[in-house]
Amino acid sequence: MKLLEERIKLDGKVLSENVLKVDSFLNHQIDPELMLEIGKEFANKFEGVGITKIVTIESSGIAPAVMTGLQMQVPVIFARKRKSLTLNNDLLTATVHSFTKNDTSEISLSKKYLSENDKVLIIDDFLANGQAAFGLVEMVQQAGAEIAGIGIVIEKSFQQGARLLKEAGLRVESLARVASLSNGEVKFINEKVEELI
Ligand code: 5GP
Repeated sequence: MKLLEERIKLDGKVLSENVLKVDSFLNHQIDPELMLEIGKEFANKFEGVGITKIVTIESSGIAPAVMTGLQMQVPVIFARKRKSLTLNNDLLTATVHSFTKNDTSEISLSKKYLSENDKVLIIDDFLANGQAAFGLVEMVQQAGAEIAGIGIVIEKSFQQGARLLKEAGLRVESLARVASLSNGEVKFINEKVEELI
């Protein structure tokens, strides 16, 4: 997605060879117009698939997920990273190791919002090693719902998440695919291909 790639080039900060900071438009301050375009793009990619629910994880997945839900006119459910007092029984849970925080936590969502009649689109802001996405997949499967695919705003293709998810038979659609973050510079997959041509 050209608009997104341009924004990453302009405002993204490469913190290390593995970590990209985009908190001026996605992870802290949010650009609603860009999120709207992201929502449209996901809705186009998964059009006609029969999606009934979108599942994401708090907090950074919520903005792109809500915009996608608005376009597709389906509800959005976000997994919680900490148990809420009001979210105490009938939970779907999974254990997820956080890439950026380097800790392990149990994520959960209420059983009452997913059933075996649902066809789910999973959305997240970043895909690194796939822990968050696999945790969400696990919970959707616990509910007996079908997974239509996974929509990722920024895939770091040099990490293993996308490959592992695809090997597990899941459809992964990423709007920006980062080939490398070497030398403080963001390189996208398509740029690499263009360079080779
Ligand atoms: P994974 O579970 O695929 O290893 O990592 C994905 C999760 O970690 C995302 O939900 C995202 O919050 C966080 N994450 C992974 N890599 C990055 C990154 O380079 N920058 C930021 N801001 N978050 C990341």
